[in-house]
Amino acid sequence: LGHQSSLSLENALLHAELERLSITDRLTDLHNHGHLKKRLDEEFKRAARFGHPLSLIMGDVDFFKRYNDGLGHQQGDACLRRVAQAFAAALHRPGDLAARYGGEEFACILGDTDLDGAMRVAEAIREKVGALHMDHPDSDIGPWVTVSLGVATAMPDRRAGFLSLVERADQRLYEAKRGGRNRVAGSG
Ligand code: GH3
Ligand code: MG
Ligand code: MG
Repeated sequence: LGHQSSLSLENALLHAELERLSITDRLTDLHNHGHLKKRLDEEFKRAARFGHPLSLIMGDVDFFKRYNDGLGHQQGDACLRRVAQAFAAALHRPGDLAARYGGEEFACILGDTDLDGAMRVAEAIREKVGALHMDHPDSDIGPWVTVSLGVATAMPDRRAGFLSLVERADQRLYEAKRGGRNRVAGSG
């Protein structure tokens, strides 16, 4: 390689790295909020075109304010990284995507996945987080860090509701919280 082409190779690598950083959450290394929105839009169109169901999981760490208050922000950040890994580890298909939605909230897009399948994935996430046995100083649930999850599925050939998938998954998440936390709530 001549001087010129190694320079352009460096440029291409730099460009690729910048692109990766722009869609990545710095704390957890999952995808960031912006990329989730973009992919959700794309997956919606794909699902409509092929007549596939599309599912969204929203997850939120239980009593995380108390976790920070008890153990400090550094420890809180470390906890979020491990929770993020549990989300990532529960996804197996190439099209699946896990993202940090913000703060201590996470989201997963599951293309071509019905409610049953998405509920199973959400339950796997809940179990994986619990199985980490991360000490929680002040949770009403028990000694360890837990998550609550909401699941929503859209069938593109049945566009009855005007609520977006995100809003519905968020409502189910709220239900899971109200129902006692450390659980999954879902609806089609
Ligand atoms: P709930 O079970 O109802 O979800 O209660 P909660 O305490 O988890 O929820 P709340 O929304 O009251 O508090 C969220 C807390 O998450 C607030 C803040 O202390 C913490 N938090 C949000 N983002 C970060 C972050 O990036 N790092 C750390 N360490 N903590 C964060
Ligand atoms: Mg929250
Ligand atoms: Mg929370």
